Amino acid sequence: MQTVLSSCIIIYFCIIMPIMSYFDVINTNKNVRSGILNTRVGKIRTPAFFPDGTRGAVKSMTPEQVVSTGVQAVLANTFHLHISPGESVVAASGGIHSFSRQALPIMTDSGGFQIFSLSGINKITEEGVRFRSPLDGSPIFLTPEESIRIQIALGSDMVVVLDDLASLAKGESRVIEAFDRTHRWLQRSIDAFNELTADMISRPLLFGVVQGGLDMNLRKKSLDIVQNSQVDGVAIGGLSVGESHDEMRIVLEGIADLYSTPKPRFLLGVGSPREIRMAIENGVDMMDCVLPTRNARHGNIWIDGDQAVNLLNARYKEDYGVLQDGCDCYTCVNGFSRSFLRHQFKVAEPLAGTLCSMHNIRYLERICESYR
Ligand SMILES: [Zn+2]
Repeated sequence: MQTVLSSCIIIYFCIIMPIMSYFDVINTNKNVRSGILNTRVGKIRTPAFFPDGTRGAVKSMTPEQVVSTGVQAVLANTFHLHISPGESVVAASGGIHSFSRQALPIMTDSGGFQIFSLSGINKITEEGVRFRSPLDGSPIFLTPEESIRIQIALGSDMVVVLDDLASLAKGESRVIEAFDRTHRWLQRSIDAFNELTADMISRPLLFGVVQGGLDMNLRKKSLDIVQNSQVDGVAIGGLSVGESHDEMRIVLEGIADLYSTPKPRFLLGVGSPREIRMAIENGVDMMDCVLPTRNARHGNIWIDGDQAVNLLNARYKEDYGVLQDGCDCYTCVNGFSRSFLRHQFKVAEPLAGTLCSMHNIRYLERICESYR
């Protein structure tokens, strides 16, 4: 009996799984498309929004609370997990799923965004990026190969290559330098990924990153290079870094007709309800952002029409209605009032942030569902 079972497992992983498509486009309407991404731990129906669990947990939420919002995956941050507790600690516990008790598929970013956000404490060379740890000042050297190694050690299901993300304020020459380096690092990342996953029965998916700032010629060239390289998916980076909504729209619209492969498309670090709609309508399949939980922890929630409401406003002191009539999130279904939540924020009770996070994530998930 055991031999038969072992044979079935071998046939599934060695014969059936390799010929299954990891991404199926189900339907398209203009540039909007719905599909199914098969990761090694489960399916993701797209368009899909991933809340950020930067340090391994979606802030203030249990895995069950995250699942209750309907989201199908989360994103964890390589840089922060590398600094603390370290990938060796996560790996020794059995990987990020076992460590965080989160069963949903997990994507890790590369650490590239921290090159941008911590630019005061880093030095970028062709080999990689030198940091001082924001925790204790100890030196850290992150290379494309090291980023892939850390993500694989964490047990990520969707790995993102390290890119060089230039601040738009640094000017055109820096954007071009980052553009060229991003593509040199892409090939080094692919080589490292192939080497580290060669013996895996079920490997993670690899996403390349499109750069080029707001220069459409660079963006088009970068998309061409990335989507034709040996990656499973295309991630669009370098947006939501201070540009206007219209500038982001021009980039997304400018590349929407240039996708030449069905590979899944991921927009890194976006966003707000308005940006998510715009991204989906320009062919993006997946997005991640800290916004729904960060806003929620400060009393900011979204209601129909993508309006932002701040519960700390005195007008909600005796407002006994739920956050949004008709919302099917845990918080609204269970009748938590604006008045109660405002009070909990006023007395610094963490429950308020949790309940508003559940509402905000559900709000973005319902947007994705409406397109699916
Ligand atoms: Zn709600």
